[in-house]
Amino acid sequence: MSFTSSTASYERLEGKVAIITGGASGIGASAVRIFHEQGAKVVLADIQDDLGEAIAKNLGEHVCYIHCDVSKEDDVRDLVDATIAKHGKLDIMYNNAGVMDRPFGSILDTTKADLDRCVGVNLGGAFLGAKHAARVMVPRHKGVILFTASACTSIAGLSTHSYAASKYAIWGLARNLAAELGQHGVRVNCVSPFAVLTGMNSKGMHEDAIAQSEVAVSGMGNLKGEVLKPEGIARAALYLASDEANFVSGLNLVVDGGFSVVNPSMSMAHKLVPE
Ligand code: NAD
Repeated sequence: MSFTSSTASYERLEGKVAIITGGASGIGASAVRIFHEQGAKVVLADIQDDLGEAIAKNLGEHVCYIHCDVSKEDDVRDLVDATIAKHGKLDIMYNNAGVMDRPFGSILDTTKADLDRCVGVNLGGAFLGAKHAARVMVPRHKGVILFTASACTSIAGLSTHSYAASKYAIWGLARNLAAELGQHGVRVNCVSPFAVLTGMNSKGMHEDAIAQSEVAVSGMGNLKGEVLKPEGIARAALYLASDEANFVSGLNLVVDGGFSVVNPSMSMAHKLVPE
């Protein structure tokens, strides 16, 4: 990272090579754009080929698209090997691809297939991404492994059971990896979003409806006057990916405006106490 002067701009990921999975949409697409703006060479991995290729083409020579189903080990191995062949190293592995089963429902209505899909893509993809990133990072004694988990790692009842289980498991995996890989100079962290409007939950919605829902969803939280957008999560990931976080490992950076640490029943209780 090069700081030139207090007023001149600098690129926070200058010279870095990053893989971003799930980079064709939502949080991942924002991260691809922001990491690229900040000087990284980005390998965008996804299963939505048309979207992924269009983003890469639009951003130019330092961004390329590779088809990769993160639940398949051969795909993930090939993704990492292709990155090394093209750029000679891997600095940042951002395991962001994910799926959500819908709709919310009772455990009695949740099928084993729902669980298998969430665990297979969310946890399986995180595990494989970390494993193959570690394979090339450990020999260099350097690297950053990031995961997109979820605010459901810090508060219950936000999502389906299958999704919550898969995301909680990612946080457990990240902590265990931080313990092992810290010995090799590799940092491991999670960024955990509150609800944010993306391809996952707003497909087919009109732009105005998305903007209204963003305000409404963010308004459910504790922090007022700010709206969470995919960029808000991508900027948190940028911090963790950059050398600014050079001593940060084993962190679950929950981006929820304080939602998960505030119990709203307390403010109701205050109102019940006569003055
Ligand atoms: P999104 O649907 O816009 O993006 C997810 C991307 O992952 C898509 O491009 C999709 O094609 C890709 N993907 C899905 N399965 C894949 C697979 N098997 N292999 C490779 N790519 C695959 O949704 P998003 O909200 O941007 O999701 C990004 C991450 O954020 C996910 O891990 C999600 O669970 C997490 N997250 C989202 C929210 C939210 O409210 N949107 C909240 C908490 C966590």
